[in-house]
Amino acid sequence: MTIFKKIIDKEIPTDILYEDDFCIAFNDINPQAPIHILIIPKKEIPQLSLSDENDSELLGKLLIAANKIAEDHETKDAFRIVINNGAKAGQSVFHLHLHLLAGRPLSWPPG
Ligand code: AMP
Repeated sequence: MTIFKKIIDKEIPTDILYEDDFCIAFNDINPQAPIHILIIPKKEIPQLSLSDENDSELLGKLLIAANKIAEDHETKDAFRIVINNGAKAGQSVFHLHLHLLAGRPLSWPPG
């Protein structure tokens, strides 16, 4: 079981910033920007590449949740969504999650 599943199950107390039937969001413990929020589906999908057509609605809902969270944090005009897929791409927790980064200039290309 991943640490994120424990957060979903409320086994680990975490300040939940947003929750609906499909996902929850909370601050990253090691923020890379003034706003760094993780948005995770309640469904256990280890990584994006293991999702499929049946997850289409869920994946869309994660992005719509990101919009709402960005709006709540008054940064709807400037934020970045990152999904690290696989260890070589920087994924360290194998429960799908979106990083929402904002609050500072975000350069391109990313590292
Ligand atoms: P990734 O490297 O894309 O898998 O992202 C995992 C993220 O989860 C990292 O940015 C970590 O800082 C973050 N993280 C790990 N454990 C926790 C936790 N208990 N609460 C909040 N964020 C966490």
